[in-house]
Parts: sequence; structure tokens; C-alpha cells
Amino acid sequence: MLAMKRELQMVVAAVLLQGCTSMRGILPGGIGDMVKAPVAPRLIRVAVARSAHSVAVSVGGPCTAYAEGGRAATKRVATLPRTVITRDTAGLLYFNGQPAHCQRITFVPDMPESLVIDGTTYRGRATVLANQSGTLTAVNTLPLEEYLAGVVPKETFPSWPEAALQAQAVAARTFAVYHTKQYGGRDYDIVAPTHQLYGGAGAEDARTTKAVLDTEGELLTYHGSVFCTYFYTCCGGYTTRASTVFPEMADYPPPVSCSYCRRSPHFSWSYSVSAANAAEKLKRDGRPIGSGMIISVSPSERTAEGRVAKLRFSTRTTSLDIRGEDVRRILGYDNVRSTLFSVRMTGDRLLFWGRGWGHGVGMCQWGSRGMADTGKSYTDILSYYYPGAVLAR
Ligand SMILES: [Zn+2]
Repeated sequence: MLAMKRELQMVVAAVLLQGCTSMRGILPGGIGDMVKAPVAPRLIRVAVARSAHSVAVSVGGPCTAYAEGGRAATKRVATLPRTVITRDTAGLLYFNGQPAHCQRITFVPDMPESLVIDGTTYRGRATVLANQSGTLTAVNTLPLEEYLAGVVPKETFPSWPEAALQAQAVAARTFAVYHTKQYGGRDYDIVAPTHQLYGGAGAEDARTTKAVLDTEGELLTYHGSVFCTYFYTCCGGYTTRASTVFPEMADYPPPVSCSYCRRSPHFSWSYSVSAANAAEKLKRDGRPIGSGMIISVSPSERTAEGRVAKLRFSTRTTSLDIRGEDVRRILGYDNVRSTLFSVRMTGDRLLFWGRGWGHGVGMCQWGSRGMADTGKSYTDILSYYYPGAVLAR
């Protein structure tokens, strides 16, 4: 029903637009006197729960509920007390254990910030639906700029200099719009927190909201297209060529050297793990290294920027090469914080020491702060970390 409504709105908009064009000739004063029509805000659908067995929704004020998939209905309520939504194997929803005779429910609050999903306050509306995998998906749909107001404070520190916050707002907006174009055919456009952290209305901060408003609608393009503006905590001195981490990102701004993140607390790190523990983690990932103990570990391939492309684990009888980013995933992204590392065996332990935190593709967040501290603007920061990218609206 909502999809039909959206289509109808688009048809109405198209008719209105055609009407405007044909009326130009008869309006006195010509085009110069025409008033710009208000542009509907760009919406984004954020999956805030996936694979959930239950989703709790409440609305602290009047709202309209639209039921679809089954017995379609529209209902107005003065408030929605906390309602726990579950489903059965046929995909029918239950509200607090009572059958709701629908597969999808959308709550549209009258007032902003009155919607609560699983304990977090959001702007916009909520849709809870029975998905194909036998669980529930909860989607928060809201204007893109309001979504960003709940993203930027989670992805950075609101106390950071203004230019760093503005750069983060543009990177987060572009990242979101890229995902909207990639995944638009699904029930949602982007996943929180998998793709981007999102704290809803409760996470908003006046300084980060100002950065979103200062850069409203601004997007980065590369070779004419909105691209996946990756960012991460700290590069450790060099950013990474995108295709070494994300092979599908062949057309991407090139890597750069970065001296701006040296003061980051994440500039250097170390981690040690016993050989037995590392072997166990490899085995659990489906990559058993044989029955013997790991006796040596060393990079078998490095990228041009010095990151570990492949790491070789050896026993007395065999050896195994693992991609650098896979080593991070298997041993823990917070342990092996980047692929810019050295490693050696000390006794029966593997000792890693490295620089930076994150995959290194795109903008170094601590570097953006360092650049802002030296008086650089957000456009300086963006063009440094995404060389060749163009700011567009
Ligand atoms: Zn850096």
C-alpha cells in the first residue's frame, strides 16, 4: 500500500512539474518571477535490527499505523505503549503475543523524536516486517539529513574542530547515498551499525548537527559518480589503495601519505597471541594449518604502501598464506588493528606491532582532525584524502 502511495506521489509530482513547464508561457513576468518549489527531503531507510526474533516499538504521542501483507488496515492511536512484535513461521506478526493479521507494520508518529525502537529514540517512522530468513527486520525511515545528525556524533567526536566534523558529515552523507544506490531494491538502504554507526535522535549533538547543516546536501563524486567514501580511525602514515581491501573498488581515489595523524593515540599498537590460540582461531575460520605448532609467521606479500597483503603461517611440515584483512578478521579487528604491521615469534607467541587503526581506505579520521588543527578547511581535508574527488550537490 505504501509503495502504491509513493508511486502515486511520484505521478502527481510529475504532473505538477509538467504543469509548471506548460504554464511558463502564460505567467506574467516570465521565468524570473517563478518561485522555486519546495523540494521533498531525500529519505533513507536504515535497518536498525536484522535477524531479530522480537522488536519492541513505542510512540510517545499520536501516530498512524499502516498494516500490510494480510489484512491491510490503517489505525490512528493517541500513543503506542511499548509493543513487542514477534512473528510465526508463516510470516504473520504478533503484537504482545496477539495475532496482528499482517506481515508488515509501519508506525508514522505525528511528533519528531517520539518513536522508540528497542530502547533507542529515533526521528522519522518505523517499519517492522517479517523477512525471508524467518526473522524480523526493523527499518527507520527518515530524511537523509536527520539520519546524518544521528551518524556524525557516533562516527567522530563532537568536541573535534569544526572542519573535521564537516568533512565527516560529507563523507558520511556520500557513503549513505552510495549505499542507497547500491541496495535501493531491498527493504532498506543501509544497515546500522554494520555500514555506518547510527545512534538515532538520542545521539545528536549541537556541534555535529551544525556540521551536517553547514554542508547540507553536499556529496563527493569521483569520475562523475557518487562513490563509497570509506573512512576509518587512523592510517598510521599511509592510506591504502582501495582495490587491495575491496577488489571491486577499481576506480577509486589513489592512496596518499599522511603526517597528520601522528598525535593520534591509535598511531601505533602491539598485540601478542599464543601460537596455539592463533592456530585455534584459524581452524575455527575453516583454515586449519595441520596438526603441528606454528613455528614461524612472516608477511609473504606487501602492498606498495607497505601493508601486509598476505601473511604466511608455517609449521614444520606445511604453510598457509592468509590475506592481511582476513588475518585482522580472524584474530580480531581490535587486536590486529591494521595491516600496516610487522610480526615475529617470541617463544611460543606471535608478536605483532603496527601503526594505525582500520582498513586505511579513504579518509583518516585522526588525520582529518590533525589537518583541521592546522587551520585547513573541510574541503581541504576531503580533497586530501579523496584526491580527484569533486564536491557536488
Ligand atoms: Zn593518517
